[in-house]
Amino acid sequence: MPYRAPVDAVRFSLDVHAGLTPDRSEGILEEAARFAEERLAPGNRPGDRQGSRMEAGAVVTPEGWPALYREWAGSGWNSVDMPEEWGGMGLPTRLATATMEFWTSACMAFALGPVLTQGAVDTLEIHGSAALKGMYLPRLVSGEWTATMNLTEPQAGSDLGLLRSKAEPAGDGTYRIRGSKIFITYGEHDLTENILHLVLARLPGAPEGTKGISLFLVPKFLVHADGTLGARNDVACTGLEHKLGIHGSPTCSMAFGQGAGAIGWLVGEPHRGLACMFTMMNKARLFTGLQGVAIAERAFQHALAFARERKQGRAPGTRQTSPIIDHPDVQRNLLRMRALTAAGRALAHRAAAAIDRAREGGPGGEEAGERAALLTPIVKAYCSDLGCEVTSLGVQIHGGMGYVEETGAAQLFRDARITPIYEGTNGIQAIDLVLRKVLRPGSGLAEVMIAELAATAAAARSAGLPRLAEACSDAGSVLAEAIEWLRQNAGAPERLLGSATPFLRLFATGLTTGFLTEAAIVAARRRAAGQDLAIYRQALDDARYYTENETVLMPGMGRIVMQSEILAEFA
Ligand SMILES: Cc1cc2nc3c(=O)[nH]c(=O)nc-3n(C[C@H](O)[C@H](O)[C@H](O)COP(=O)(O)OP(=O)(O)OC[C@H]3O[C@@H](n4cnc5c(N)ncnc54)[C@H](O)[C@@H]3O)c2cc1C
Repeated sequence: MPYRAPVDAVRFSLDVHAGLTPDRSEGILEEAARFAEERLAPGNRPGDRQGSRMEAGAVVTPEGWPALYREWAGSGWNSVDMPEEWGGMGLPTRLATATMEFWTSACMAFALGPVLTQGAVDTLEIHGSAALKGMYLPRLVSGEWTATMNLTEPQAGSDLGLLRSKAEPAGDGTYRIRGSKIFITYGEHDLTENILHLVLARLPGAPEGTKGISLFLVPKFLVHADGTLGARNDVACTGLEHKLGIHGSPTCSMAFGQGAGAIGWLVGEPHRGLACMFTMMNKARLFTGLQGVAIAERAFQHALAFARERKQGRAPGTRQTSPIIDHPDVQRNLLRMRALTAAGRALAHRAAAAIDRAREGGPGGEEAGERAALLTPIVKAYCSDLGCEVTSLGVQIHGGMGYVEETGAAQLFRDARITPIYEGTNGIQAIDLVLRKVLRPGSGLAEVMIAELAATAAAARSAGLPRLAEACSDAGSVLAEAIEWLRQNAGAPERLLGSATPFLRLFATGLTTGFLTEAAIVAARRRAAGQDLAIYRQALDDARYYTENETVLMPGMGRIVMQSEILAEFA
């Protein structure tokens, strides 16, 4: 089943949720769609089958990927929202979110590498010295070189306070890095000549825990002042993981400093490395959530095509064997897949809009930054979870053909499964949301968002959509009660920690109820004005399905949030 980039759906979502009118996305979306469909998507299945592998100590990506990467980067696609000062297109992150969705739907294992490069650009731009920026940003922005994020060590996964890698000052402004990292995405590969590793390590005498971590830039090849490549640095890939999915992307064990020590440069202040790394992780978390949306979209397209072709049983009122799409149970699954995907896309576009608004600064910029920070863990966790759910439904719709590898439905399911784990597990995202975002001292943003739901309810009522209006009001009431409960229990972390994951799902469901309703209002108005595009009917159906099948669960979800005492009995 060939991938078709959902340009209309994405454009409509950007318009409604991110204030990016179609004239601003014109051209870019079509071009990106064409590249994703024609160039990237054909590499997805062979990339999965071949995987990345080690040959004579070197990492070899699937056949054709190095040329494909050069073509992709050469077309400027790495730099959509990157600063013009360093050679980027300088377009909004909202647009980069759309293009990243297309790359990821087409081939998630391929698109994963650029996520890290783009996060590294943000990090260097904000925290890097002028010398580091001048030396490395132009090549990262163009995609000529890629970047990695080196956090995880065998004993330090979610708990980075346990990390042991060390950095010794060399006396000449550089550092010697020593340590082992695991699970490093695209830590070594043959797509580009050089790779820039952003590595967390401890300086001598650094405090214990997360307050004693610094960030270093460690190039695979040292770079001369004129920009040409010098000697190989003391960093090596010592092995690749054999994993459930995303086989095309190499997941590397890395050794820094097996000899004289890997030469590195400090990024940002000493001991402030984790804060710097959060700049990188925030972009990566938005894009990880987006991976859930992208893979869900692809799974939906697959399942829809299969359901139209596969004939089994007789649908109600027919005498002949029917395509399975005529069975109400299959229709329910397909509608669920599409509505969840639309909800996740809306959420990701809202977060991207807040990021753009925050970057513009001025009045409202600070609130937008807080909004982006609050939405980021929700996008990461909710959208990655829905990616797993939707791809699983995709397998289900294929029946036995979904479980075998032939149709590609199984690959999507396997590829999606990493997204709730990396970039901070979804459990950690939920804790971040509750403790550091919703309950941040002085923050009333969650309550502002509930007020926005009430405004959406009023708008739905005046647009002649009373059932959607009621759903938004109900969602707001449940959310208000749950947030009040969180505030009352702010001094009881054991309760909050046990309730964080259900709260994140509840909050995401409430917010997306409002977002899909807003899309339905726009669609209803445009239809009333005589524009009858398929995407408008789809938006109305998605909102209706979502409110009738997801929003209605919120009272029960709210009760789950407020009842975590059972957990104390467990351990
Ligand atoms: C394919 C792949 C690619 C990756 N790419 C990179 C990369 O490029 N760079 C990089 O640095 N890392 C990378 N990682 C590592 C990834 O980020 C970690 O696996 C992830 O952060 C979880 O850490 P862990 O595996 O040690 O699990 P653990 O931290 O051991 O967690 C195990 C379980 O315990 C839960 N848990 C842990 N602590 C808490 C807590 N305090 N409260 C509640 N629950 C908790 C977690 O939610 C999880 O369910 C990658 C991993 C994979 C598999």
